[in-house]
Amino acid sequence: MIRRIQSLPGRPPGFLYRESKQGIFRHKRKFVLHCDEIALPKLVAKYGTPLYVYSAPMICERYATFDRAFRESPHTICYSVKANSNLSILRLLARRGCGFDVVSGGELERVLMADRKAAHKVVFSGVGKTREEMTAALKAGTMLFNVESESELWALAECAARLRTRAPVALRVNPDVAAQTHPYISTGLHKHKFGVPIRYARALYAKASGAKSLRVVGVSVHIGSQITDVAPFGEALARVAELVRVLRDDGHRIEYIDAGGGLGIAYKEPERSGFAKDAASYARAVSEPLRALGVHLLLEPGRSIVGPAGALITTVMYRKANDGKRFLVVDAAMNDLIRPALYSAYHEIVPVTYPDSDAKVEVVDVVGPVCESGDFFARDRELPPIEEESLLAILDAGAYGMALASNYNTRTRPAEVLVSGKSVKVIRKRERLADLMRAEM
Ligand SMILES: *Cc1c(COP(=O)(O)O)cnc(C)c1O
Repeated sequence: MIRRIQSLPGRPPGFLYRESKQGIFRHKRKFVLHCDEIALPKLVAKYGTPLYVYSAPMICERYATFDRAFRESPHTICYSVKANSNLSILRLLARRGCGFDVVSGGELERVLMADRKAAHKVVFSGVGKTREEMTAALKAGTMLFNVESESELWALAECAARLRTRAPVALRVNPDVAAQTHPYISTGLHKHKFGVPIRYARALYAKASGAKSLRVVGVSVHIGSQITDVAPFGEALARVAELVRVLRDDGHRIEYIDAGGGLGIAYKEPERSGFAKDAASYARAVSEPLRALGVHLLLEPGRSIVGPAGALITTVMYRKANDGKRFLVVDAAMNDLIRPALYSAYHEIVPVTYPDSDAKVEVVDVVGPVCESGDFFARDRELPPIEEESLLAILDAGAYGMALASNYNTRTRPAEVLVSGKSVKVIRKRERLADLMRAEM
């Protein structure tokens, strides 16, 4: 396992084992998992567990790689804030010229707090925007509203008219394309709540262009998340391209195509070919059908930028065996990282300190303390024998980890630290119980 991690082109510069020569048993080789230049046990000694750790260089590098993959098309990357909305991570990306995709007034507020001038690179998505949210977004100068229904269209028109402005609008179309992913994060079929069925789009564009307070400028699509086969993206964009031609014939000025997010990452087998290759084949699938259209492309990646750049570090509290079935009870739980419980997601779990021997493996369930059988991080997983008090790293937890964390079982949410080379910044303090009860009577 250690060798797997060490030889992965996709992992560095994020999480790597390095040989440790510390301690009294200098003759015994030992490998310690690092985030950039920082040994994880050092972070834990200072900040405790459970702890989210992110590599800033890895986030930046993945953003740059994604951006480079689209260098042949005029484009703007609008990082999907919901994947990881920590202000410091937003600031990191904003400083590199990244735009943002928000799905609530709260996310917009975060973006503006990270960078006051970012609004002109913000797209506002979501199936249930309130009038208050739309008004705030109009006042901020949002670049594009991805509208998902006729009713929402009129609500937005009303908000814009009241502000004596014109709202820049794209309709999010539902292309009826199946993406091979978990049903909860597949969004591009007609049975899903998202978007406007593509065959009704033309009529709705005609209506929208009649509203004085709307400025029809684009078409948007987002077929789901954690999609690793790029063919469905190509299929969806081909349908969008067809629609754009029809709309232009109808006299609409379509300047933007928003291709959404959804590029998956390799949770199980780390990106063997490297992110650059995956991003390039994604870019080809998305931009090929749009080549002759001369549009400005918007992209909303979330997971593929931050997912592999984060890990959740946890302490093994207890070992137990029930009738021969072995459990490692750790101090992180489903409230900290819900992906395994919610999507049956797989996360690679590795010991933070790895012995340099081919120790036998044992088959264990890695579980948290929450009172639900769904509170697990791994089932029947092969791990080297792990002692109580030792640390485990749950990898690829940078996206939809902390963003989905809750206070279930009245558990405080973890601290988050951002590592860059040898520097460490706490970007969110560990919650205290008082924080949880503040709003209650
Ligand atoms: C969630 C979402 C994204 C980001 O998806 P990833 O799979 O994280 O890339 C982008 N756009 C919209 C509209 C979304 O809902």
